[in-house]
Amino acid sequence: MSDDVELVLRSTRVITPEGTRAASVAVAAGKIAAVLPHEAPVPAGARLEDFGDDVLLPGLVDTHVHVNDPGRTEWEGFWTATRAAAAGGITTILDMPLNSLPPTTTTANLAVKQEAARTKAHVDVGFWGGALPDNTKDLRPLHDAGVFGFKCFLSPSGVDEFPQLDQEQLAAALAEISGFGGLMIVHAEDPHHLDSAPVVPGPRYADFLASRPRAAENTAIENLIAQARRLDARVHVLHLSSSDALPVIAAARAEGVRITVESCPHYLTLTAEEVPDGASEFKCCPPIREAANQDLLWEALADGTIDCIVSDHSPSTADLKTADFSTAWGGISSLQLGLPAIWTEARRRGRTLEDVARWMSTAPARLAGLGRKGAIEAGRDADFAVLAPDETFTVDPAELHHRNQVTAYAGRTLYGVVRSTWLRGVRIADHGTPTEPTGRLLERQN
Ligand SMILES: [Zn+2]
Repeated sequence: MSDDVELVLRSTRVITPEGTRAASVAVAAGKIAAVLPHEAPVPAGARLEDFGDDVLLPGLVDTHVHVNDPGRTEWEGFWTATRAAAAGGITTILDMPLNSLPPTTTTANLAVKQEAARTKAHVDVGFWGGALPDNTKDLRPLHDAGVFGFKCFLSPSGVDEFPQLDQEQLAAALAEISGFGGLMIVHAEDPHHLDSAPVVPGPRYADFLASRPRAAENTAIENLIAQARRLDARVHVLHLSSSDALPVIAAARAEGVRITVESCPHYLTLTAEEVPDGASEFKCCPPIREAANQDLLWEALADGTIDCIVSDHSPSTADLKTADFSTAWGGISSLQLGLPAIWTEARRRGRTLEDVARWMSTAPARLAGLGRKGAIEAGRDADFAVLAPDETFTVDPAELHHRNQVTAYAGRTLYGVVRSTWLRGVRIADHGTPTEPTGRLLERQN
């Protein structure tokens, strides 16, 4: 072991790319210097943190977070979002380009966002750009300025300043982005299906579900695949809910279309059948669907058709979460709870923490090209979550660091208590309490 090791993290259960093992992880200059045998001697001058049987996971990477700062900071902000992330075992977030004012659609706007985040970030923060009907000329400058890719909507986004793309505009944006080797990430719901679906205002979840049919997702994804194939573009499907689309996605991949897919804790742990009337904290688009649909999403995680699990944390103030599903703000707040929510369900379904680490850290890091994140191995950043996987807690919204303590998980008992979170070798949260804002702003590395 080299002399400059300052810290050794020891656990009987360290999750590495080669599997789970007892190990001591040596940290030097904020990076993992080596993964050593459990009983390896601690170098003189280095501090030992022994976590016993608690699990050492790679810090989670959440590539889908709506921070809303500046402009809608009463919904969420960089201070509160990154504190919640740290408390929940997340060490890197990528901010979505919309719901803040301005949206991240020009390099000038990106600079405003970076300034808003700079002194508040408790975890590392990177940015997605936005692709709008009229900003094609801004895409390459944004790419050169370090955004991780571009988000577009194919149906209304929910905010006026971020209009959707039609198929022709999508093709133009994809051609531009694939010209410089970029990535397009897509909210895939087809507007024609949404327009022809019945809208029944009121508190019944079944009415809301009928207004966002699976066919809207399925058609949008089929169209996206056709465009990606034709233009040899690299695309990513955001927040997949409809399991009907899985065979089409798997087939496209098999023939070489460059498409990846994410789903979210709410689609994987909550079901339409259990949403109470008027409980719009469960409203998001696409919607939470039936239990049978959820089973197929888990099968797709197991077989790799779905690559990653990210939060799509999209909060608002409580007053916008009205009892009428047709008008309530659509977005679920879960940044701090994603790890225990997913682990609870994964455990029940016989999956392992190695799976969870792959879905919530390794795969999202790969999606974003974050070569320094996403695994416990020499050379990567010393980012970790320490988890007591067999311990339970009941979700008390008052204990969340989110700006607004509204969540669909209130009152649920979950497995997995995050003991501490580490960013580049610094403890950034201890037993649910965030410490100092030592996060950095990230730019795309490739
Ligand atoms: Zn989103």
